[in-house]
Amino acid sequence: MKVLVIGSGAREHALCRSLSLDPDVTELHCAPGNAGIAEVAQLHQVDALDGQAVAALATELGVGLVVVGPEAPLVAGVADVVREAGIPVFGPSAEAAQLEGSKAFAKDVMAAAGVPTARSYVCTNAEEVEEALDAFGAPYVVKDDGLAAGKGVVVTSDLEAAKAHAAGCGRVVVEEYLDGPEVSLFAVTDGETVLPLQPAQDFKRAMDGDEGPNTGGMGAYSPLPWAHPKLVEDVLQMVLQPTVDEMRHRGTPFSGLLYAGLAITSRGVRVIEFNARFGDPETQVVLARLKTPLAGVLLAAANGTLADLEPLRWREDAAVTVVVASHNYPGTPRTGDPITGLDEVVAQDAPHAYVLHAGTRREGDAVVSAGGRVLSVTATGADLAQARRRAYAAVDRIGLEGSQHRTDIAAKAAQAGA
Ligand code: AMP
Repeated sequence: MKVLVIGSGAREHALCRSLSLDPDVTELHCAPGNAGIAEVAQLHQVDALDGQAVAALATELGVGLVVVGPEAPLVAGVADVVREAGIPVFGPSAEAAQLEGSKAFAKDVMAAAGVPTARSYVCTNAEEVEEALDAFGAPYVVKDDGLAAGKGVVVTSDLEAAKAHAAGCGRVVVEEYLDGPEVSLFAVTDGETVLPLQPAQDFKRAMDGDEGPNTGGMGAYSPLPWAHPKLVEDVLQMVLQPTVDEMRHRGTPFSGLLYAGLAITSRGVRVIEFNARFGDPETQVVLARLKTPLAGVLLAAANGTLADLEPLRWREDAAVTVVVASHNYPGTPRTGDPITGLDEVVAQDAPHAYVLHAGTRREGDAVVSAGGRVLSVTATGADLAQARRRAYAAVDRIGLEGSQHRTDIAAKAAQAGA
């Protein structure tokens, strides 16, 4: 099978890596990709948001599957155009991607499906915002209704900061604060059958100890030694299946990757948000643990045949990923700096640790930084402690001036699991 992956982040590198290891994949293409993906796939300079261009490329290449990585092309309807061209595509329609594209829409679906989530108000002016903030009290949670690359949410005890964020948005969702640890649970679905993957936890704040601003994600690990063994089954029954059923009943079936961001509160599991695609950086650790070849799973979701698939198989290994980000991320990051040590990681740490590229670009013989999150250093091990040690040993070999990374990814969980 020939496969085309759309996107250019570490998530897409992880997808391409797994697909390149799948014996059924005979040719792997990616648009637009990055310097790391170029090592496992053929790159094409096509705009990921241009559905016609993506469909034309897929047709020209004769691929049997298109995998859309990021949310923006999904919300822009790229999967619809590819599907209309008669090519199987892993990724929801623009309408179904509203589960991620609009937090207000997601809340409406959850209410209809009886899915537990934070109580919330959708507000369109300052008065409504003030009333809602007052009703819930501190800590305040204010969310931009639209897509904001994980950066549209403010959680603060400062009332003025909460109001100021709302004032800068437009339509916002104000909701009750959920305490308790967060879990990311991905599920592959064809619109009817739902196949949960293994849970992961990511680290959204920029700095150690969960300090600093929210980011797209600074690291992740899987499995979760502290989680209840029935967590996945419970979330399937209470959250994932009812949501997929509700979307189908509305005439907008959701196929692709349904990502539930969950809070494990003292009152039970609550949905923080849905995403309509693989999460970054959780994908890096979840796919590191998946034993079943990936292409067949994604194709079955695209073709509506997931019910016929054998149960997924998982490695016993734990996985940890540490994001190396540019100077000043998540503000305006500094780019164009050379990255060193990549060959050393291959020489010293493979196959247990490897580097997945995000914002990188090749300049002659050099690989240089080209975005906020630059690399995702991923490692596996017998347990989280070993995976962590391997990931950080590889991070230490990498040179990128002014770069930053968290030093506490999976630290607590590794202790708990020891
Ligand atoms: P979201 O973009 O909705 O995932 O929000 C980003 C991050 O903000 C989440 O991962 C949480 O850490 C935090 N967050 C969002 N909603 C809530 C909430 N209702 N209570 C507490 N924290 C939240």
